[in-house]
Amino acid sequence: MSRWACAIEGCDDTFDAVEDAIVHQTAEHERHECKVCGTVVPDGYFAIRHAFDEHTRAEFVRAYDADSDAVRQREQVKDEIESVVDLQSVVERIDGAV
Ligand SMILES: [Zn+2]
Ligand SMILES: [Zn+2]
Repeated sequence: MSRWACAIEGCDDTFDAVEDAIVHQTAEHERHECKVCGTVVPDGYFAIRHAFDEHTRAEFVRAYDADSDAVRQREQVKDEIESVVDLQSVVERIDGAV
């Protein structure tokens, strides 16, 4: 069974289910302020999703001073998560927790 790392800076928690990892990122970590538009989103997966669903890669690179490797890495994480995640159950658990 694959283990999912939180992967937020300074945190090395790992989880058996990706849903657990995302709930952890949302509940346990400070929120992230998007450097492109200033929207505050949960850090981790939701921050990546926001950046790439709402903005172009060029905007992301400019705002975060990122290179193409950083973009590819995040897109890969996003694809990996989205191929397995039950986002509805994540949202329900987050709603229940706050
Ligand atoms: Zn964490
Ligand atoms: Zn934004």
